[in-house]
Amino acid sequence: MQKKHVENGRVWREMGLAMIDLKLPSPIDEFKFNNRLFFVKRDDLINEEFSGNKARKLYGVLKGDFNHIKRVVSYGSNQSNLMYSLSVLAKLKGWDFIYYTDHIPSYLKLNPIGNYAKALQNGTKFVVGEKFINKSSFDTLCIPEGGRSILAQEGVEILAKEILKWKNDKDLDIFLPSGTGTTALFLSKALIERDSNIKVYTTPCVGDKEYLFRQFQELEKDSKYYPVVLDLDKKYHFGKLYKEFYQIWLELQKSGIVFDMLYDPKGWMVVTKYQDIFEKKLLYIHQGGLLGNSSMLQRYIRKYPQIEG
Ligand SMILES: *Cc1c(COP(=O)(O)O)cnc(C)c1O
Repeated sequence: MQKKHVENGRVWREMGLAMIDLKLPSPIDEFKFNNRLFFVKRDDLINEEFSGNKARKLYGVLKGDFNHIKRVVSYGSNQSNLMYSLSVLAKLKGWDFIYYTDHIPSYLKLNPIGNYAKALQNGTKFVVGEKFINKSSFDTLCIPEGGRSILAQEGVEILAKEILKWKNDKDLDIFLPSGTGTTALFLSKALIERDSNIKVYTTPCVGDKEYLFRQFQELEKDSKYYPVVLDLDKKYHFGKLYKEFYQIWLELQKSGIVFDMLYDPKGWMVVTKYQDIFEKKLLYIHQGGLLGNSSMLQRYIRKYPQIEG
């Protein structure tokens, strides 16, 4: 067991070409939560270093012919999951990785943790407090914040194909929480294009419903491909700490699967609230992001010391 684990995570190079062992198709587990059975697509298990929907979104760049590229540039928060995955990709490809971020708190600089720590280890060059300007060129690849790019489509289509192949004659709905909405949109589109009757549901975790629709529109004009967007009455701000998020995350963990602490607490609250509209069995997409949990968990424990994990 242990040996296999190590082999799956091993990264090596051959003739200057990046190789990484991705566990695809990712497994699908049964998961009992709140006395209901779900399926969970375990994209968190694709690879120790390169997993979740960021692996799906960057798959096309990983496998594609980008030999002319020498550096990749992106921007976003200092604990972004995409930042970390891009740092892995850049290391594999032998590219420089330049990452723009608004600020890096001094305590984080002194005590690197989570995605920031790993991105640093992978040689990320941080540019702090400067405005990001898209300077895509022959040898420079710019990836928008959160990987909201048409480049993400190829990898998400593979996710759709894996689900269709596994599905057989099962009746399914799919749920996944959204940031930029790129994964949910391309998944919904790939399934509709393949005439499947699977409906994709999502919820906005960054911004509101309107924001999410604007994100969809940036990537796809035809709204027939859009996922169904569900939301909660209360407004939650991305990255903030909420007691009910922490509680549902702990319950999920007790039920046997560790989910991410930024998107999945709201995701599972939506799934619980709307369980009556999901007539079919629900497949929840686990989109990884577990490396970011260490810094979130520290903050939660500090804020709610009375809650026991
Ligand atoms: C990035 C991320 C999301 C959001 O993905 P989008 O394609 O931007 O909607 C959701 N969950 C996790 C764990 C992520 O890392």
